[in-house]
Amino acid sequence: MTSTASPREEWGTSLERYRERAVAVLEAHVPATGRCAECGDAWPCDRACCAEFVLEL
Ligand SMILES: [Zn+2]
Repeated sequence: MTSTASPREEWGTSLERYRERAVAVLEAHVPATGRCAECGDAWPCDRACCAEFVLEL
């Protein structure tokens, strides 16, 4: 973070970070025989749903 960044630019950076994490979550949380391969919850699991929501923004 730089001192010259405007609030808008800071938000854009935060959003970019959220998206990167969401992509990582979606790569780990994949369906496996009706369940999530990562956390074992019924597919789609909460974390995958949250990640999808973030990517919709
Ligand atoms: Zn999961």
